[in-house]
Amino acid sequence: MLKKLVLFDIDGTLLTVNSINRRILADALKEVYGTEGSTSTHNFAGKMDSVIIYEVLQSVGVSDSVIAEKFDKAKQTYIEMFRLHARLSDIILMDGIRNLLDELSAHSEVMLGLLTGNFEASGRQKLLLPEINHYFPFGAFADDAGSRNELPPVAVEKAYQLTGRRFSENDIIIIGDTEHDIACARVLNAKSIAVATGTYSAEELKKHNPHVLYENLTETPIVMSEILKSSIN
Ligand SMILES: [Mg+2]
Repeated sequence: MLKKLVLFDIDGTLLTVNSINRRILADALKEVYGTEGSTSTHNFAGKMDSVIIYEVLQSVGVSDSVIAEKFDKAKQTYIEMFRLHARLSDIILMDGIRNLLDELSAHSEVMLGLLTGNFEASGRQKLLLPEINHYFPFGAFADDAGSRNELPPVAVEKAYQLTGRRFSENDIIIIGDTEHDIACARVLNAKSIAVATGTYSAEELKKHNPHVLYENLTETPIVMSEILKSSIN
């Protein structure tokens, strides 16, 4: 019987995409808005794709109304360019991930999902290339809400629609590489597992008080037992 809902972040947690992601966003914004804004230098870590688009354009003085007017076009252009240009060689799967996903998906008590700031279409493409998309029957994405902290309840509701099960806070685990993933866990009073495989070091992550902190997810049995524990502690 399903007991645990495990929600994974994508970038910095499951995998990393090389500079092509930034280049594609820059090209898409240039095409739609005539400027890439601060795309080449902006901190993307843990942020929603939609929020990133607003921030990089606001930083060069594009008004919110202009951003909003062309937002759907920019989003679709970015997604289309990502589908066309991103290759498997642009993506590095984090060490241990394939093994961990194999173990988790084979476990009868575990339901896997995504909780990510990616748009669904481009996020799914990032997972399709290294062939890990099939592990995730559902997810909460940038398309689903205006801010990242609104995504956890969306994920829980989608899990309910899929399984008929209401996962309680003690049975939800959120795994991610930034303070924003830890904050998402806090929204649900769920367990946060922070992993220092993204741009945040373990020391930085520690300041945000995750329940569990790992350098990476390579120790599959340790991570599995942490996930399967009955309570938050
Ligand atoms: Mg991340």
